[in-house]
Amino acid sequence: MKYTDLNFLKFLLFDVHKIEEILKFSKHSDFDKDTINMFLDAAKDISDQELYPYYQEFDEKPAVYEDDGIKIHPQLNNIFKAIVESGWVGAHFSPEHGGMNLPHMVEGAAGHIYSAANNHVSGYLALTVGSANLITSFGTQEQIDTYVPKMLQASWMGTMCLTEPEAGSSLGNLRTTASLSDEGHYEIKGQKIFISGGDHQFADNFIHMVLARIDGAPKGSRGISLFIVPKYRIKEDGTMEFNDVLTAGDYQKMGQKGYCTAHLIFGENDNCRGWLVGEPNKGLKYMFQMMNQARLEVGMTATSIATSSYFHSLQYSKERRQGKKLNDKGERATEQALIIEHPDVRRMLLMQKSVAFGSLSLLMESFKLYDLVENTEGEEKNDIFLILDLLTPIAKAYPSEYGLLAASNGVQVLGGYGFTVDFPQQQFLRDIRITSIYEGTTTIQAMDLLGRKITAQNGKALLLLMERINEDIAEAKRNETLTKYAEQLENSIKTTQKTLEYLLPFAFQKKYQSYLKDATLFLELFSHVVISWQWLKMGVVSIKAEGLNESLRQGNILAMKYYFNYELPKIKYLSDTIISTDDVIVDDGKDYIN
Ligand SMILES: Cc1cc2nc3c(=O)[nH]c(=O)nc-3n(C[C@H](O)[C@H](O)[C@H](O)COP(=O)(O)OP(=O)(O)OC[C@H]3O[C@@H](n4cnc5c(N)ncnc54)[C@H](O)[C@@H]3O)c2cc1C
Repeated sequence: MKYTDLNFLKFLLFDVHKIEEILKFSKHSDFDKDTINMFLDAAKDISDQELYPYYQEFDEKPAVYEDDGIKIHPQLNNIFKAIVESGWVGAHFSPEHGGMNLPHMVEGAAGHIYSAANNHVSGYLALTVGSANLITSFGTQEQIDTYVPKMLQASWMGTMCLTEPEAGSSLGNLRTTASLSDEGHYEIKGQKIFISGGDHQFADNFIHMVLARIDGAPKGSRGISLFIVPKYRIKEDGTMEFNDVLTAGDYQKMGQKGYCTAHLIFGENDNCRGWLVGEPNKGLKYMFQMMNQARLEVGMTATSIATSSYFHSLQYSKERRQGKKLNDKGERATEQALIIEHPDVRRMLLMQKSVAFGSLSLLMESFKLYDLVENTEGEEKNDIFLILDLLTPIAKAYPSEYGLLAASNGVQVLGGYGFTVDFPQQQFLRDIRITSIYEGTTTIQAMDLLGRKITAQNGKALLLLMERINEDIAEAKRNETLTKYAEQLENSIKTTQKTLEYLLPFAFQKKYQSYLKDATLFLELFSHVVISWQWLKMGVVSIKAEGLNESLRQGNILAMKYYFNYELPKIKYLSDTIISTDDVIVDDGKDYIN
């Protein structure tokens, strides 16, 4: 069964997002088109053999908490080993830290393949890599030497420990404490909930990256520090001892059941040690590095689930016969049509495809920016970072929100069978649901976009992004087939500007409720503009690229046309709603939501 299209993925990497512009940096000189193809083909082989066949079984036999900790599906051990052997874990790290300087674009593309095959897997390893990244970026040499090599072998796994019962979206309220001991380490006390990959039987140790407040530190987010808190600490003689990190349970969830979610208690017996990373009170700033990376990864997970859902429903639509073609009324119709021959089924399929593939292109764009940030200096680096920072909430929230709608269409295409466990469609729908919640809910992404990113440096990020979009519009206008769509995108930018002209005065007047109350609608509006930009780019390359497979070319053009005809027009409704002056959802009315 097809769960992703490697040809399309490679089209994005090589033709649309031109990875050769990244490979020219000396850091990546070990890679060329052939080695990248080999790396991705290997990821596909592992996925075919080790990941995809277990996708439904992970749902049927979920992670469970037993007396001695959380037990995850045994196949995960084989998968971890195979993926570690492939070199994917920490591949973007420098050789000095155990990596191979693989561009983020390729790492992300391989991550897409793994997650499309089975989205319960990559989080374990991605969080381990993200934690190791935090240590190499902000830790001491001793911390790097102690933890990172074992983490990149996945024999020790990493987690991010932010959320607490009283601190979810609002991390400034966290209560976990850190008290400096005479020996130089900190005594950690508190509990963390919903910790992905927080405990299981297939790692020798867990390296928790814990946010906590040092005694006497300021209240709120300014007083948060970052600590390494291993489940087992290393004694002076090199042996390990339990570090008083207790696993209290595993949350049972509606989806991603193979990916465990732990409830952890630190220091219940007053014997939990943590080691400060970097400077005190800078923990949230450091953690944002990991969160931004993780937000792209969550966007990729959602994209991958939506992609797999699309291919499963596409296959069904080519096998299931039902009803007659609209033009074959009466006596003329002798046999039932395939459901893909019905326009409305085609609409649902194209919706799924345009959302999933459009998101994949945006993720590739984002990973390329990430690579460029790491390979440039000075003002150029700053400008690229600003664009990446602006796109990150969209790359996280759009695939998770629209991917959910796409996966729902995936169920709908199968009719009654879509609702049964005979097919994985219902599982895609359940699995993707979490992606708009963890790593910051969609609302949090929307407030980040409108509240911080749009206004940062007097709107510089938006201007820089618009420059890029306008360049692609100009290029598209040179082609007759695309002129109409280029103009439509141009108009959609005007709609965005009009909406911002309405909103921004509220920000200047510090009327934040009026400014941010419809932030999620603005995020949706702006996402359509950004995804249309991606489709226009893909349209230009699809028409121009020589030697492109004809079916890929035509498929891209059709999906692009779908997006401009059926999705982008939604921004008119979104803009009108944002600009409407009726106060429906502001505070004063909350007593009457009854
Ligand atoms: C399966 C799973 C895995 C997870 N993995 C991890 C992990 O590995 N590490 C970790 O630290 N955490 C993890 N989390 C926690 C996750 O990041 C939080 O659940 C999420 O950030 C939301 O926090 P909350 O659940 O407390 O919801 P709340 O913050 O209580 O939010 C409830 C609702 O209120 C809205 N809301 C909250 N504040 C505002 C506001 N200021 N303005 C407008 N609306 C608002 C939210 O958008 C949401 O709709 C995980 C959660 C789950 C379910």
